[in-house]
Amino acid sequence: MSANDSTYDTIIVGAGPAGSTAARLLARGGAKVLMLDRAAFPRDKPCGGGVTNQAARALDIDLAPVIEQTITKAQVSLKLGGAFDREWPEPLSYTTRRSRLDAYLAEQASKAGADFRDASPVREIEASDGVVTVRSNGDSYRARTLIGADGANGITARSAGLGSDPQRAAVALEANVAAENGLGDRWDSKIAVDLGGIPGGFGWLFPKGDHINVGVGGWKQVGPTLRARLSALCSFLEIDDSKLTGLRGHHLPLRDRGAPIARGNTLLVGDAAGLVDPLSGEGIHAAFVSGRLASDAVERYLSGETDDLTSYDAAVGRELMLDIELSHKFQAVFQRFPRVSVAVLRFSDRFWGQMCGLARGEMTYTQIEARLGVFRHFFNGLAKVSAVGLPR
Ligand SMILES: Cc1cc2nc3c(=O)[nH]c(=O)nc-3n(C[C@H](O)[C@H](O)[C@H](O)COP(=O)(O)OP(=O)(O)OC[C@H]3O[C@@H](n4cnc5c(N)ncnc54)[C@H](O)[C@@H]3O)c2cc1C
Repeated sequence: MSANDSTYDTIIVGAGPAGSTAARLLARGGAKVLMLDRAAFPRDKPCGGGVTNQAARALDIDLAPVIEQTITKAQVSLKLGGAFDREWPEPLSYTTRRSRLDAYLAEQASKAGADFRDASPVREIEASDGVVTVRSNGDSYRARTLIGADGANGITARSAGLGSDPQRAAVALEANVAAENGLGDRWDSKIAVDLGGIPGGFGWLFPKGDHINVGVGGWKQVGPTLRARLSALCSFLEIDDSKLTGLRGHHLPLRDRGAPIARGNTLLVGDAAGLVDPLSGEGIHAAFVSGRLASDAVERYLSGETDDLTSYDAAVGRELMLDIELSHKFQAVFQRFPRVSVAVLRFSDRFWGQMCGLARGEMTYTQIEARLGVFRHFFNGLAKVSAVGLPR
């Protein structure tokens, strides 16, 4: 053992939105928490940085210091054509830069009392007799519990035999362009989404302070075509493709049905658990929620109320998986019938209101399905038929 050996109640691997949320809540409750991240902070992460109102509401801290723009309008198009505008009187989402958002969340965790060490890649994890040992930068740390918040393909899931098949991930590619020559004014408070043109995904534009973020994503097999699709999206949105900077791709992990995310004294949160919404690609909301559920489960374990952390799996099932499963169904129908889906989005104020309700956190997929009334059975049948042959 090195001179830096230390013992904690919980070690959290990864300081993204999921890890920092769990760290902040656990430290605030009095637990001794260590959070390690391999990157030097502030660090960026390939991400649109769109935080829905639903996600912001899931947090008990104010994100105002790191919000770039408040979004109330959307330009929607189908296969790079037929663009139309929709809006909502209240905020639908906020745009952020992940470098600022994640540094802010980690700072809040530190302020709550968590010990945060960046530039600390975890290279080895060992578990025996209810104690976890984590090695990083030549130091070893021990804890009674371990939270894997290390994103897609992380070391925690691998070493604990948890998580889903990494092959099931979706992929996305994004880049930035300076908001100059009127581009910023054109997209003030307004995002763009291009639907129906990319198998399993869509193209987007998110305005930030001094730049615009554009991206495309879809099922894993479309990966090799994403660069060409991004160029086509830029040309449609009248953005000079040659001025793109910071081109980056990354996985969006999708949980296999029933894949284990907790065992013994270890659990996974956020992307490590594959909790991305399949239809929207949104992962920050689930990162916040799973971080909170993880902190609840760890607190109960530390207090001796439970013998392991498996109650977390059931809590994720109740609070997130019901909606994620339904999102799969909506995605299947959307993928089969993009033209009809976009027309409904355009002409049905009721459906548009429901989509805005989802983004605002005032409605869930489960509630939307319930409101289909007698058409619910028809929808479920259609989703089943639509899903045949699609990746899942
Ligand atoms: C191109 C793209 C666009 C997206 N756009 C959006 C969007 O607009 N809105 C939205 O809600 N979601 C979006 N997502 C999804 C979103 O980015 C993720 O769901 C979210 O970041 C998950 O947060 P997390 O905390 O689980 O993991 P992450 O944010 O990935 O954080 C994981 C952390 O773990 C650290 N780590 C990894 N391995 C180790 C190790 N061995 N040791 C120590 N640290 C380690 C990493 O450095 C990282 O800081 C997008 C994803 C992609 C790829």
